[in-house]
Amino acid sequence: MIDYTEIAYDTDGWEQFARDFLVTRGFFVESTVDRGPDQGKDLLVTENLKGTLSSYQFRWLVSCKHFATSGKAVSEDHEPNILERLKHFRADGFIGFYSTLASSGLNTRLKALRDNKDIKDYSVFDGRLIENLLITTGYSPLMLRYFPNSYKIVRPLHLVLDEYQPLECKVCGKDLLMELYANQHVGNLVHAMVGATFHSVYVVCKGQCDRKAEQAQLALKRQTGWADLDDLIMPVEFLRYMFATMNRIRSGQDHYTDEAFAQEKHILISLAQRVLRHTTDEERQRFLELAKLPF
Ligand SMILES: [Zn+2]
Repeated sequence: MIDYTEIAYDTDGWEQFARDFLVTRGFFVESTVDRGPDQGKDLLVTENLKGTLSSYQFRWLVSCKHFATSGKAVSEDHEPNILERLKHFRADGFIGFYSTLASSGLNTRLKALRDNKDIKDYSVFDGRLIENLLITTGYSPLMLRYFPNSYKIVRPLHLVLDEYQPLECKVCGKDLLMELYANQHVGNLVHAMVGATFHSVYVVCKGQCDRKAEQAQLALKRQTGWADLDDLIMPVEFLRYMFATMNRIRSGQDHYTDEAFAQEKHILISLAQRVLRHTTDEERQRFLELAKLPF
């Protein structure tokens, strides 16, 4: 989904991205370490680890490799002398920050170093993991800055409330908002009603979960109506759905139980994380001010 080649391979863009990404994750960047001509750069970052009685700083050597253009995995040959490099910089652990994958040979080597207690720990942020983290909440400004074209296509999630609000299937609990990135036509929004009164509003996976939930509603003598989640995350359809709901409530056609109305609102807030654009820090501050005003 994210096209890493939006960062040119012959610049230090990937290292800059790694820096900003790790800072967003709470690391402190100490310095940038040259690996010599054409060798790119490593980063030295620290992380505060809290013990029961004290906290101490864990220093990581971050190796940045940007092979997205060739698509090649990062192998042991690309990461020579890991132990020596760590010792030289008095680092406790190793982080591979790669736009592709780490080869199985490199993974085995890193695991062996840790198992033999040569290094305290290691971690690999590969292209897939970075992508997963970028499309989930909190990283969208980074994605907008470094991968503007992918950003337009992917539309990462944005916080609406202080915390991410998952959109969980009523039956299996799977987060359908995340699932919508991986597959098409993953789920339905369902209204269960008796006459014109909504008693339950929920989301379910299409297929088995949907049938299971449907049977439970039928047993309660409720009828169901549904909408496709793929449609609802389209901005115009989201708005149309909101207006249609408002219109039917205004005309007296639809009634909601308190529970069903709360469920409807929760689902709309969750969907809005995908539909609305990123809120800037200034806007969030202004929103907090506005929220204090009576209306
Ligand atoms: Zn399900």
